[in-house]
Amino acid sequence: MSVSPIWHPFTQHGLGEPIPRVTHAEGAILHTADGRRIVDAISSWWVTTHGHCHPRIMAAIAEQAQRLDQIIFAGWTHDPAETLARGLMALLPPALTRVFFSDSGSTSVEVALKMALGYWANRGAPRDRILVLEHSYHGDTIGAMSVGARGVFNQAYGALLFDVGTIPFPAAGHEQATLDALEAACRQQPAAFIVEPLVLGAGGMLFYPAWVLAEMRAICARHDVLFIADEVMTGWGRTGTLLACEQAGVVPDILCLSKGLTGGAVPLAVTLATDAIYDAHFSTDRSKMFFHSSSYTANPIACAAANANLAIWRDEPVRARIADLAARQARHLAALSGHRNIRGARTLGTITAVDLVDPAGGGYLSSLGPALLKRFRDADLLLRPLGNTVYVMPPYSITDADLDRVHAAIGTAADALG
Ligand code: PLP
Repeated sequence: MSVSPIWHPFTQHGLGEPIPRVTHAEGAILHTADGRRIVDAISSWWVTTHGHCHPRIMAAIAEQAQRLDQIIFAGWTHDPAETLARGLMALLPPALTRVFFSDSGSTSVEVALKMALGYWANRGAPRDRILVLEHSYHGDTIGAMSVGARGVFNQAYGALLFDVGTIPFPAAGHEQATLDALEAACRQQPAAFIVEPLVLGAGGMLFYPAWVLAEMRAICARHDVLFIADEVMTGWGRTGTLLACEQAGVVPDILCLSKGLTGGAVPLAVTLATDAIYDAHFSTDRSKMFFHSSSYTANPIACAAANANLAIWRDEPVRARIADLAARQARHLAALSGHRNIRGARTLGTITAVDLVDPAGGGYLSSLGPALLKRFRDADLLLRPLGNTVYVMPPYSITDADLDRVHAAIGTAADALG
């Protein structure tokens, strides 16, 4: 077969790594063209919540595809979007009264940043500085990269990224330093503070406690700084609750959701905002409208998938499944945590993470990363370590036997380090 013309994301083609070809999937299992059965232990980049090809979501997509495929959303609407917006209102904090659609986590963040700046500009008191948390990740578009950690991911594009105020990560024992830095930065009247609630995902599966999130929110409220919660990864049950913010009793001014919004089946994102933010754009003056769109905004087929996801949350025991998975994950983590080559064993909700000891110091470009990736791929597991950090974030329907295999492989990888 000739060489594929495809240029894959986050893939160094020069390394010549094999690229498995997946033909079909169900639950937590991927089937490849060469007949392998792979356990998807990272929910296909954190999107698949209930399991691959959930019958209700697949049926909703098929049904909607017979009626209305796509319609411009500027000045037009359709039932799947209206139903979804109302469904989200019923599920999410009442203060978030407005839903803006887009199509990926990165765009939901771009929308959030533009809403925040638009809010201040339209009120006649422009502000343009954004505060961010150290080690954060919010996507790969220029704005989303600008509010994420600087590093190897975006070094080549640094000249294009806008300047932000970085608040130190609230590492255990250093939480007060974070809060003090945020308080000081808020006195400078920035437009907004954007955070990944409770878990910094791509930054290394770093966890911080709910009380810190609550304090950070309170500081922003006190200084009239907009609080943006990026729940693109943490939303839809990953941390044990529908939203991670729930655990801190926090309601943001702006909320970004994507990934599990459609159960992980098709791309869709929403950015929710309060009345205050919407009202700042509401006017007879056309220059104050919210200047953002993309061609596929609120695609009807994607909205139908999201409506099926919401129905699953409403009438299936999703929360009980999440609690059960969280308990299983915690048991596996406890078994691994004493290992001589494992540090920082941590779990929150359905996520576990460990750092394998790397004598060279670790980090995203740790040489352990590619070796681990190969080891897991050879064991028919989809695990994608962040350098020397190995995390498990499976679909909620993963079986005991498959989850056992995942954690056994992590244990074996740790043994192999000597
Ligand atoms: N925000 C967070 C917290 C994420 O984890 C991600 C992706 O992993 C994004 C935003 C970007 O989402 P997308 O890859 O859909 O653009």
